[in-house]
Amino acid sequence: MSEAVDVVVIGGGVVGLATARAVLRADPRRTVTVVEKEDQWGAHQSGRNSNVIHSGLYYRPGSLKARLARAGGEAMIRYCEQHDVPVKRTGKIVVATAKSQLPGLELLAQRGEANGVTVRRLDRGEIAEREPNVAGIAALAVAETAMTDFAHVCRALAGELTELGATLRTNAPALQIRAGGERTVVHTPGAEIRARVLVNCAGLHSDRIARAAGHTPTVRIMPFRGEYTEVRPGRRDVVSNPVYPVPDPDLPFLGVHITPMLDGSVHVGPNAVPALAREGYRWRDIDPRMLTDMVRDPALRGLARRYWRYGVAEMSRSLISPLYVREVRKLVPTLDAKDLRRHTSGVRAQAVTATGELVDDFVIDRTPGAIHLLNAPSPAATSSLQIGAHIAADAFSHLGDDDLARSVRDSAAI
Ligand SMILES: Cc1cc2nc3c(=O)[nH]c(=O)nc-3n(C[C@H](O)[C@H](O)[C@H](O)COP(=O)(O)OP(=O)(O)OC[C@H]3O[C@@H](n4cnc5c(N)ncnc54)[C@H](O)[C@@H]3O)c2cc1C
Repeated sequence: MSEAVDVVVIGGGVVGLATARAVLRADPRRTVTVVEKEDQWGAHQSGRNSNVIHSGLYYRPGSLKARLARAGGEAMIRYCEQHDVPVKRTGKIVVATAKSQLPGLELLAQRGEANGVTVRRLDRGEIAEREPNVAGIAALAVAETAMTDFAHVCRALAGELTELGATLRTNAPALQIRAGGERTVVHTPGAEIRARVLVNCAGLHSDRIARAAGHTPTVRIMPFRGEYTEVRPGRRDVVSNPVYPVPDPDLPFLGVHITPMLDGSVHVGPNAVPALAREGYRWRDIDPRMLTDMVRDPALRGLARRYWRYGVAEMSRSLISPLYVREVRKLVPTLDAKDLRRHTSGVRAQAVTATGELVDDFVIDRTPGAIHLLNAPSPAATSSLQIGAHIAADAFSHLGDDDLARSVRDSAAI
């Protein structure tokens, strides 16, 4: 079967779906197809994360993350409220447990304020009032944080896309891409899709898709698994709202946090251990091809040289549970090993530069006829409606409609 469309989106995670929605809401006459290799929407990062709608606290002012997270969080909360997706404004605290973390906490407060987030500084007594089980010497309280269920958001977006007239294909891996000429051709097992614009939102496979489409990205994807434990039912009152540590400023990860989920369960995590396969949800998921690539790839050798200390510490805590529990107890001393049991995991698609640096900001590359989202880690689920609008605007520029591109950017306040 062969179809000709204006836009084909590869990847049915929250960002790919939000992008398709942004195109069709701006111009319902456009034809859009979304192809997803799994049998459901949001099967990877979008359905395996902490489900936190972030406030914009952490991100370097002026960065894409800062710009898209602040407005994106509010847009996501409104979207959930309007589409019957569970959502709850919870707020959160970020807690320093040692004096050495105080400068990092203050830096966060300043970043948050620069990004328009309301930040309140808490002392030891105020922490105890809010969260009696949490040990901290100082903390920041942020009101603009909410909990949702991003898998549910994906299903809502897919439902809306059907109403907007998109063609949605699950079980449809993009196996081959022929770029160049008027249209890019995407081959899936059931269809050949000829599109004027290709949008690559393939998450853990986005660098491969970019290369298949003839682009040479300057970054490549390194998968980092985030493992969760769950607090046993009898101890679910251990925290009332999300509690975060002060993150390591050299890393793009937020640190193991304690998060009450909307279903009443309490999750601890995620850590960040190098995964041995792109979809390596367990230690035993090993992709020999990826490991061979890693040994050959100077970027990943550079990554190993730069971050080996951190990597070894995270892997040790993953494999040796007393070390993990010791880390969690720094935040909540009353939790012990018998309170925690292994739970699910997710794998982050983290971009790495040619010299082995972890890329902090979102990365969107534009080539003739294509837009490639090459780094969309947290808070990309929070920001997905804004990222979608951003990419949709680029798609309209590709389609020669600069006025619509401008109006999409303006209405999303990008
Ligand atoms: C452990 C963890 C915790 C996180 N916590 C949060 C949080 O609390 N808040 C937050 O905002 N963000 C969080 N994030 C980040 C967030 O989940 C991601 O930024 C977001 O889901 C990225 O969405 P995406 O659509 O780009 O990618 P994905 O959801 O990974 O979607 C990509 C899709 O592309 C598909 N695909 C790949 N190759 C092909 C192909 N060849 N053909 C067709 N389809 C293909 C995949 O199957 C996949 O469904 C977390 C991430 C992780 C891993």
